[in-house]
Amino acid sequence: MHRLTSEDIAKFHAAVIKRGPDECWGWLCAHDKGGYPLLYPARGRCFRAHRIASYLEHGFAGACTCHTCNNPGCVNPKHLYPGDNKTNATDRDLAGRHGKSKTTHEQTLTIAAMYRDGKSASEISAALGFPRQVVYRICKGKTFGWLTGFEYTRRHLTPEDVLQVVTRYRSGEGVASIASDLGVSHDTIWNICAGRIWRNITGL
Ligand SMILES: [Zn+2]
Repeated sequence: MHRLTSEDIAKFHAAVIKRGPDECWGWLCAHDKGGYPLLYPARGRCFRAHRIASYLEHGFAGACTCHTCNNPGCVNPKHLYPGDNKTNATDRDLAGRHGKSKTTHEQTLTIAAMYRDGKSASEISAALGFPRQVVYRICKGKTFGWLTGFEYTRRHLTPEDVLQVVTRYRSGEGVASIASDLGVSHDTIWNICAGRIWRNITGL
């Protein structure tokens, strides 16, 4: 990004189709196969323009630049945040699995504030209408940790958690979903459900 000249930045601004502050902003120039906006600088390789938008807003672009709106062509800096490849995949997963999983930065901060006030993820989910898992991930710092200051730590399971795992697995919920919700590995869930660990609790 430091290779950008002031001409490149001017060219960037000229190609942005600005809409309302909370809407997705379009891009007048080329897009790549994935739908990401491209900016061709005066010299050197082309840039993905949403990375420039994020860079100009946040001061750095991160290993990758993620969209909260799941619209790869969008260059509204409010919809962009610097992340790593893992957060990008996580956010995409969530957006794919849940219709209403996209939270704006303001909504994310509201969720974080409610959680700090002592509300549970379920209560926040019911109050704001976001899926519980989306709220849970934010409160645990699995997503948007850079924004909320919440730090994600793998937790140790309690006996109640273990029983919950078995109940949820038997009711047909996927291993990945249970694992990410409880902040443990897929293997842990498999091992519990197969009776390899925690047998004293589950009786399997
Ligand atoms: Zn957008």
